[in-house]
Parts: sequence; structure tokens; C-alpha cells
Amino acid sequence: MSRLGVLGWPVAHSRSPAMHNAALAELGMSGWHYQRLPVPPALLGETVPALRNAGFLGVNVTIPHKEAALRLADVASDAARQIGAANTLTFASDGTISAENTDAPGLIAALGVSVAGMRAQVLGAGGSARAAVWALIGAGAAEVSVWNRTSERAKALAEQLGARAVEAPERADLLVNCTSVGLDVERSATEQRGLNQLGLRGDQIGEYSYVADLVYRSGSTALLAAATAAGARTVDGLEILAAQGALSFELWTGREPPAGVMLRAARAEPAAA
Ligand code: NAP
Repeated sequence: MSRLGVLGWPVAHSRSPAMHNAALAELGMSGWHYQRLPVPPALLGETVPALRNAGFLGVNVTIPHKEAALRLADVASDAARQIGAANTLTFASDGTISAENTDAPGLIAALGVSVAGMRAQVLGAGGSARAAVWALIGAGAAEVSVWNRTSERAKALAEQLGARAVEAPERADLLVNCTSVGLDVERSATEQRGLNQLGLRGDQIGEYSYVADLVYRSGSTALLAAATAAGARTVDGLEILAAQGALSFELWTGREPPAGVMLRAARAEPAAA
């Protein structure tokens, strides 16, 4: 059995097992299985080498382990090192643990449009914002500004990665929400409050041609609903999740990932006939 999985704490909510097992089934890879790996932070250091020894070929890494996973790896890609976090570990047959960050290229892939020359406004200054800023700059965005509720964090991130911190979200071609706002609220009741928490006014959404929201939940977020109403092209968190998952899948298996199958599984939609 070739084993894959997702390390997190908690990890019960993860859509990755459904997504990857659907891809494995689609490609007829019956000797492979992808599973949840709930591991508390204190046990990560001993668990990762044990997984390798137990026959795992690779794992995804999610909250709160992405920074620690990078430190545990023997080698790391430029993306993982510069972002400071890894969401994908690969175990080679000689025991080497390699760290990669597919969140960054996954965002660019999910956008489905070249960001070269675009102005981008990123909201948030946590781990996913770091990956987004790094990815957008690397993909040729003309300018990337960063707004965060705690402005000192935006300033530190911007300085490290070559972006510009702003005190309020600015007009741009592309808006990317990398905060967790929108995760656990009823959209209809709190639409305006959700936008306020992001430093945005409702009438400001129309200033962005493209709006991406990393938050993934069933149904739209307040931000995406407002963006759709304003005529923006939108990308939701499950599209971004499926795109990063597809890149990890390709790394581990060497097979072309069935992207549509993975996205439908992430959305918990039935497989296509
Ligand atoms: P994180 O490191 O914990 O950062 C959280 C960010 O959200 C911080 O900037 C924080 O601001 C901000 N925030 C939290 N509550 C807020 C509020 N009430 N008002 C305004 N800002 C608030 O988290 P992360 O790893 O970057 O993840 C952020 C979100 O992206 C999560 O919902 C996660 O599930 C999602 N995500 C999705 C994907 C995907 O593939 N779709 C990948 C990664 C992450 P402060 O600094 O002021 O606290």
C-alpha cells in the first residue's frame, strides 16, 4: 500500500482525503490511500520520521504545522524557504524529507489568469497571506499591497517579501482575502459586518476586477457574494484548495492530476457520469 495523508490539529474538517482519494480512484491507483493524520504539535517531530518509516510517500501539512514541517525537512524548495512554511512533504526512498509549498502556485493556478502587471491587494498577514504575496510577486504582479487588522504584522510581512503595507485596502485589479473572516458566519445575517472586518466598504468591492477568497466553506462568503453582485470574476477557497492539492498529487505520484475530479470531491459533489 502506498500511503499519503494530511497532518493537522484539528484535521477532521479537511477536504483533502476526499479530494485525493477521488483522484486516486479516477486514475485506477488502487494500491494507494490518503488518510487524515490528527497529530498535536508536541508530537509532530517524532511523527513525521515515523510516517516515513511506516511507508508513507508524502503528506500534506495544515494548521498549525506548516512552519514546523519546514524545519523538520532535510531539503526545501525556494518557495517553501522564502515563504517560511511547507504544506507538502515528500519522503524519498533514501529517507530524505523534502518540503514544498504548493499553496503559492495553487493560488496562481486557481486564478486562471495572468497576474503579470496587475495591482493586487492582499488582506491578512498570516501564513496563507505570506504564500499569496510571495506567489503574486513571483508571478509578476506590478504591485502587491498588504492590509491586516494588526497593522504591525502587515508591515513586517511586506518588508520581508517586498510588498507594501497599507492602512486600508486600496483599489487594485485583484483582491485576495487571506484572513479567516467569513469562515464561521451566516452570510445573509452578517454580510456588512464581514466586509467591515476586512476593512472594506460595500461600495468598494466594485473597484476590483478579480476577487479570490481563500476561506472555504459550503456556500459563498460575504466577500464573494458582494464581489459577484458587483460583477467581479471570483475564485473561491475550494478552487484554491483543489489547485494546491493537484500540485501535491503530481509531486507524489508523477501522474497528471484529474483536476475536475478533485474539485468536485472538494465541493462534495457527486462524480461526473
Ligand atoms: P493565520 O495564519 O491564522 O492568519 C489569520 C489571519 O486572519 C490574520 O491576518 C488575522 O489578523 C486575520 N483575522 C482573523 N480573524 C480576524 C477578524 N475577526 N478580523 C480581521 N482579521 C482577522 O491563518 P492562515 O493559515 O493564513 O489562513 C487564513 C484562512 O485561509 C483560513 O480561513 C484558512 O482556512 C484559509 N486557507 C485556505 C487555503 C485554501 O487552499 N483555500 C489554504 C490556506 C489557508 P491578525 O493578524 O490581526 O490576527
